[in-house]
Formats: sequence, C-alpha cells, structure tokens
Amino acid sequence: MAINSSTNEWWRMKLDISPVTRAEEIARRRCNTIIKLVPRNENPDASAVSNMQVDWISEFCAGVLGCRARIFGVQHELEELLHARGVPLDSADLEYHHAALFFAMDSALECLAYAMNAIGWACAASDCKCYSALHDEKALRNINLSNFRKTKNCSNSSCPTFAAIRACWQLPANQKCIDRLTEQHDVTKHRRAAMSGHGQQQSSSTEDDGSFISGLTAMAYNPPADYILHTNIKTLPVEKAQASALGKPSGRTLQEQHLNGEVYFLSELMADYNVLIEETARRFESDIEKLLANAEHSKSQTDQPDGAEANGLN
Ligand SMILES: [Zn+2]
Repeated sequence: MAINSSTNEWWRMKLDISPVTRAEEIARRRCNTIIKLVPRNENPDASAVSNMQVDWISEFCAGVLGCRARIFGVQHELEELLHARGVPLDSADLEYHHAALFFAMDSALECLAYAMNAIGWACAASDCKCYSALHDEKALRNINLSNFRKTKNCSNSSCPTFAAIRACWQLPANQKCIDRLTEQHDVTKHRRAAMSGHGQQQSSSTEDDGSFISGLTAMAYNPPADYILHTNIKTLPVEKAQASALGKPSGRTLQEQHLNGEVYFLSELMADYNVLIEETARRFESDIEKLLANAEHSKSQTDQPDGAEANGLN
C-alpha cells in the first residue's frame, strides 16, 4: 500500500490483496467438504434420475482469478498514468486510461462478489433464496455488490452471512468509495468521458501552504499532478445550465469547488480504494475460513454413524 503524501506519488501505490489468494488456496484444499447437488434436469420425472454435483469451486476460483486480474489492471493503469506525466498524451488516450482504471477497480469487487455468491450458494440450504444458483443463467445476472452491502436477514440460521465483508462495505467511507467507483465506471462504460481536467504539479519555487490543493494549478497541462472528477457526474445538462445561470460553477476556483464537495481528485479515490480493497481482501479470507469451518463441522455431524457421538466414538 502507501502513498507518498509528501510528493503526491499516488501513482506508485501497491495494492496488497494477498489474503484473497490465500483464501482461494484454502478453499481449493478443503472444497470437498461442501457438496451441492441439483436435479439433473427440470423434468418432473427427474426424480428417477440421480442428482448432479455442481462444480462450485471452479466458479469460486474463477471469481478470485478475475479479481486478481483486475487488480493487475489497476496497477497497470496507474503505471500508464505515471508514464503520462512525462509524455503529453492525447485527451482521448488519457481518458481511455481512466475508463480502464475505473473498470478494473469496480470489476475487482464485482468478481469477488461472484466468488462469494458461488461458495455462499454452495453452502446454503436448497430452499434458501439468498444466493443465485450457479446453474441458472438468469439468476446469475442478479449478482452484484448490493447483494453484500445490506445487513443479511434470512430465517435460515445456517445461511452464509459474510458478516465481515458486509460490515466492511457498510462503513461510510467504503460506501462512498464504492458509490463513486460504480458511478464513474457506469458513466465511462455507457455514456461519455469522465475526466473533467487535470492539475499541474506546482513548481518548488512557488509558495506552498502544504495543502494538497496548493500543489495544483487547475487545468494546466504538463505534467499532470492529479485528475479532477465531478461528484455528481450524472448531472443532467439542463441542471448544469441552471447552475451556470446561478453563477455556479463558473467563476469559482477549483479549491472552492473541492471544499464544496462538487469535485474530487483521482488521488483521493485511489487512497480510499487502497483502504477498501485491502480491508476487503482480509475480510474475504476470514469469511471464507469461517464458512469452511462451519461446513466441516456440519459434515462431521452428518458423517457420524448413528449414536457414535453418544457412545463416545467420535
Ligand atoms: Zn438465506
């Protein structure tokens, strides 16, 4: 992790999601404790045919690999933005790196949600509707981050809760980061460019009051020290026109807009994401360990020959 705040070298941050990899290794080793069977087909006569075992572990591992791959993407795009400081890029090229960065940041979390759904569904009772069935394409489309952002409310006491992840994603700072990220990604994917400008690093000869804003001069070009993002990026053109007619935002400095919460900087989003993704990784590992321990406990109970426990044979 770590950003060098004295030099604002947030491009060089390293995201540590090693607990996600550890969780995958643990799940691979112990996956046989979780068996999920579904009817071979939807035919009402299927009762005559044996059920099929679902390969949930492959889906879980694919979700984890997706997450790790997206984090590679985040690191790559940060390196590209670092490179962009020395080589003036076409605005479209710069915007491309932002769009790819937002995709990778958002998708890393989405892939983890897919992995959690896979093991959650495998562990859940067959009548539990909390997770999407892995053999139902329509149901899989419903998997998203919001499935893991609310407090879980299921009458089935054995239903997997992912309590640690939920608590993490409900923290106000993390909620804000996820909301910003999904909105930026949504806009760059479906609508238009998201970046509204970039600031130039202030030369050492000029006055610096130590604040981050003082290290920027708005909208100057080379080398960019940071990138400006709008808080309400989905504001409609008519609303922008209204704001402009009221003397906003024109005529005000970037610092005023920032203090007013109308804009923020990519470096802020990256710092928040750093905290979010590393804490998510740690909690993912602890939730998966807990699920596997519960599954092993349940399996050991059902594997007991009748009366074995009472006779002290376990
Ligand atoms: Zn449930």
